[in-house]
This record gives sequence, structure tokens and C-alpha cells, in this order.
Amino acid sequence: MIQVSPPAKLQSRCQNLIAGNWQESNGQEERLLFSPYSGAALGSVPISTISEVSLAAQAAAEAFEGWRDLPIKERSRPLFRFRELLLENLETLSNCAAWESGKLVSEAQAGILKGIEVIEFALGLQNLASEQLEVSRGVWCQSRREPLGVVLGITPFNFPAMVPLWMYPIALTLGNCFILKPSEKVPHTSQLIGELMRRAGYPAGTFSIINGDSKTATALISQPQVEGVAFVGSTPAARSVYTQATALGKRALCLGGAKNSIILAPDADPALAVRGIIDSFTGCAGQRCMAASVLLAVKGSEHLIEAIAKAANNLAPGREFGALIDSAAKQRIVAALEDATREGAKILVDGRVQSAPTGYENGNWLGASIIDQASASFSCARDELFGPVLTIIRVDTLSEALQVEAASPYGNATSVFTKSGAVAETVQKRASSGMIGINIGVPVPREPFSFGGSKSSKFGHGDITGSSSIEFWTKLKKITSRWEDTSDRSWMS
Ligand code: NAD
Repeated sequence: MIQVSPPAKLQSRCQNLIAGNWQESNGQEERLLFSPYSGAALGSVPISTISEVSLAAQAAAEAFEGWRDLPIKERSRPLFRFRELLLENLETLSNCAAWESGKLVSEAQAGILKGIEVIEFALGLQNLASEQLEVSRGVWCQSRREPLGVVLGITPFNFPAMVPLWMYPIALTLGNCFILKPSEKVPHTSQLIGELMRRAGYPAGTFSIINGDSKTATALISQPQVEGVAFVGSTPAARSVYTQATALGKRALCLGGAKNSIILAPDADPALAVRGIIDSFTGCAGQRCMAASVLLAVKGSEHLIEAIAKAANNLAPGREFGALIDSAAKQRIVAALEDATREGAKILVDGRVQSAPTGYENGNWLGASIIDQASASFSCARDELFGPVLTIIRVDTLSEALQVEAASPYGNATSVFTKSGAVAETVQKRASSGMIGINIGVPVPREPFSFGGSKSSKFGHGDITGSSSIEFWTKLKKITSRWEDTSDRSWMS
């Protein structure tokens, strides 16, 4: 039974938040929005104009002058209030994020709670002390972290609240002014968040929202006031944003798409493996950058494949996982299943035969599918499908599994299910992904550990959350000073 309450009050046309005020966009172009659950109209999102983009950058630059000078303890105060407001409004926010993105309310809520962990990490930054050392007699070296200035976050549809939350709590606390360009597919959750940020007491211009599409993102990146760009989305867009931003001399960290593998060893604990694999490829209807989409089943694990197929057959869209973002996504996955058969794979579980939940027949529903006997060169094994589909490649050995894993251009996550410490150790050493799971299907590192993949799943150095994010959102200033006139001098002092 579907449990989602469509938000009572949604702006029919989303607004921009510029200099602390909600403003209608003058943009003539707009996108109409529909709920993935039912196809119900959800108003529209404007494609903001160039002058609105530059107004937001200018207002953020003006706000930066005062914001940067506040001690970090003062900059943290609105974040304490914002955390409380998020918790008070958790139900409304979760329902809004679910209704516009298609995920279950429980999944949307889990995403927001993960975002709150990032807030708690950011609140701990107020204890970040600068380093100081007497390097020769009377001469002191000190390093201090300073904000970049105006920074930009460009975010995807699949986590309307959580992915932006990876960015702005840390960026703002470290003294930057932040402009969010939410996904044009799910702009409503950011409207609610923007209002909570205002109520939390963030000064005008420190946090802004500019709605729009890739053209808007491109215009924002090229604003002279923008010093840093964080991006999360598909690999082609991540590569393009990274290239554009770095060519302009800006700092950029761009997280891209994924094709995550799970290596299934024959000795894996059946309950742990079946549950972990099922949850990983079907959770959020497979629309997660950490979803497993390839199962590298090592010879001897056939009994586990049978159990996985049986469990997948018992899942129902709308009960265990939600809907796909739009009809184009559904068509893409249906076409991928057809291609897989054409290429010679077998459909072990067919999600196309599952019906939509009663009352939601106009939504974008698709059941869980398992493609078996694929080879690494098949498109279902290579390309990111971003739906509830698992492709099984049967391999003879762990080394063969690791070779297939290494050949993928993506490098977000790789997991292994095994009872053997030696197998787990080999996978964590040899796998090429940035995030590794041992008997965990969705190996998302939690604070203070940082989140980020490798290869074509991430462009730029460092990670988006955790301790590594401090490097990204700040620049390091080094100060050498002497106050005493000592007789002990060298050419360095
Ligand atoms: P998308 O790339 O289509 O869009 C993401 C954002 O980028 C949107 O705000 C969009 O307006 C903007 N955009 C798109 N093309 C652009 C371009 N050429 N230049 C500038 N901006 C551009 O992604 P999506 O469909 O919204 O999200 C799904 C994708 O995001 C999947 O590939 C998924 O794996 C990936 N993702 C990755 C992570 C991660 O941490 N690596 C997390 C979540 C989602």
C-alpha cells in the first residue's frame, strides 16, 4: 500500500531565492513537472534568465564580505536552528521529496537523516583549530583555512534533499556563500529547504537558489564571482562541468554516474547476501549512484543466485521501492532489457510484467529485473541503466571478477559478500572503486568518513563530504611571523 501524502501547498511555479528574497523568474522558458507516482501535475520550474543568474552571484559576493569575517562559532548558529527545523519538518520534506522524485517516503526520510549527519559534521567544524609551530627561535608558522568565496552546487534528481545537504552545510560553515542550482526535475524540495534556511537566520545572500537546467548551470559556472563548483549528476555532465570550471581557473569537484559491482563468493552468508544484494539493486528503484547493478557471481554461488531470483520475484513496486523519475527512464530500461536478450543474455526475473500499484496506473512503475548470463561486453553490463535491474556475469574465480571490475570505466562502489577475511582483504586492496563494501550492498561511508568514487565516477581531487571536503571548500593561508628580536638569526629567519 502506497503511503505518500502529496504536499498540501506547492508553489505552482518555483521561485528563485536571491539576496534573501523569493522572486518570480522572468524566464519565458519553463519545464512542466509531474509526479512519478501518478503523473499528477506538480506545477513548473522556470529556466532563470542570465540577469537573474548574475544578480544571485552579485548578491552572494556582497554577502560574502560580512559572512567571511564572522567567527566560525557565529556562522554555525543558524545551522543549529536549521537542523532543528529539518527535524520538525521531516514528514513534510520526506513526502515532498518522495512525491516529486518517485522514491518511497521512508527512502526520502532516510536521505534527509543522512543529510542531517552532514550537518552534525559541519557543526563539529567550529572546533577546527588552526596549526601553529615555532619553526626557529621566535619565528612562528601558522596555517589558516579561509573560504573560497561564492561557491556553486549543481545537483541531480535522485536525492532532492540529501545531495544538496552534502554541500551547503559544510561550505557555509567554512565561510563561503552558496548558490544551489537544484535539478529541474525535483525543484520543490529545495523551495521548502530554502524557506527553512531563511527561518534559520542565514543572512541574505549567503544561501541562494537559482532554478533552471544545464544552460543555467553553465551560466552560473561562468559568473566571475563563482570560485568553486561542486557537481553531482551523470558522468557526461560531470566531465563537462569539470572541464568548463577548471578551464576558467575555478576549483571543481564533480561526482558522476556509476556501474557498481557486487562480487558474490560461494561461501557468502545466504541471508546477508540475498538481503544486501536485493536492497542494493532495488532500493530507490535502482536510482542511486551506490546501487549495485552488476553481480559478479563466482563459480559455486549458483544456490545464492536462485535465492536472489526468488526474493526479487516477491517484490512489488510501490511496496518495497518507488517509481522511476519519468517515462523516458522507464522506456530506457525496457529497451535495455530487450537489448540484453538480443545480445544473448537471459531474463531471469522480468520486471516488465509487474503492474503498477492500484490507483497509480499513470505513474512510471517497473518491477525488479535480473538479467543472467551476460558477458562484460554487453550493454546491460557496461552502461549505467539507473533502474531496478541487476545484471549477472558468471565468473570462475575471484581474480576474474576483479578483472571485470577493473575494466569498468566507472569507479563508485564495489562490494563483496563472503565469510572469508582473505577474500575480503583481496577485494578491498585490489578493487578499483573509491568506496568498498564488505558484506554491505550500499557501502556509503558515514561521517566523518568522506564520500566519493574514482575513475569516471569523480572528476577532481578530494571528496564531497567528511574531512576531505574541508580541503575543497577552503584555501590554506600560511603565515610566518616574528615578534621578538632574538640574536639567533639564520638566512631563513
Ligand atoms: P544529470 O547529469 O542529468 O543532471 C544533474 C544536474 O546537472 C542537474 O541539475 C542538471 O540541470 C545539470 N546538468 C545536466 N547537464 C549539464 C551540463 N552539461 N552542464 C551543466 N549542468 C548540467 O543527472 P540526473 O539524471 O539528474 O541524476 C542521475 C545521475 O546522477 C546518475 O548518473 C547518477 O549515478 C548520478 N549521481 C551520482 C552521485 C554520486 O555521488 N556519484 C550521486 C547521485 C547521483
